[in-house]
Amino acid sequence: MTTRRDELADRLAAVRDRVAAACAAAGRTDEPTLVAVTKFFPASDVDLLADLGVTDVGENRDQEAAAKVAELAHRDRLTVHFVGQLQSNKAGSVAGYADVVHSLDRAKLVGALDRGAERHGRTLDVLVQVGLDDGAGRGGARPDEVAALADAVAGSAHLRLRGLMAVAPLGQPPRPAFARLRELSETLRAQHPGARWVSAGMSADLEDAVAEGATHLRVGSAILGSRESHR
Ligand SMILES: *Cc1c(COP(=O)(O)O)cnc(C)c1O
Repeated sequence: MTTRRDELADRLAAVRDRVAAACAAAGRTDEPTLVAVTKFFPASDVDLLADLGVTDVGENRDQEAAAKVAELAHRDRLTVHFVGQLQSNKAGSVAGYADVVHSLDRAKLVGALDRGAERHGRTLDVLVQVGLDDGAGRGGARPDEVAALADAVAGSAHLRLRGLMAVAPLGQPPRPAFARLRELSETLRAQHPGARWVSAGMSADLEDAVAEGATHLRVGSAILGSRESHR
């Protein structure tokens, strides 16, 4: 009988093979961080993944994430990434359990996250999410808004500016979009040398993201299976 653990172990191994092959193809010796996006899946799956060596998990809804993190309190080594669209009234809650927020895309969130982090006595790693689709709807700030947002994050006492995040635009080849993200990252680093993280690449396009220098891959269904049966 195949257990859930076997299933996750097989898929995780396949994803790690894909990442290793993509790194080899790109001549990269630095391994990107694999963030297992566990939205819609139970805390028991996160537990199994942690047993299999996963150190970083991603969530995209505050309520679900808060409940799951509470169930995982015994796992003090897990790094929790908030990757979903963030409402400013949820920022205080997210600041209580997330270690990294990938989706800061407007000025209002800077103060909300900073106050939330201060209240919880924490410092948050923050990525500015940039939209690569000319505002066609997968979230993110316009490229020309990134510099001001980055300055605001960098100037916040309880936030640490780490870099940029993007989702590849729908219906377009991802590689040119990730190449654009890499350029934006280089521009950002001219002002903020420490902001080296590039969060890009999901189940379908992680090879393209690795080829364009992603430091963080956000992989859900390729590790956990289809979310359809879990909605
Ligand atoms: C769900 C989600 C992912 C993972 O997507 P898969 O295609 O399942 O790998 C990555 N990034 C964000 C922002 C997500 O919401």
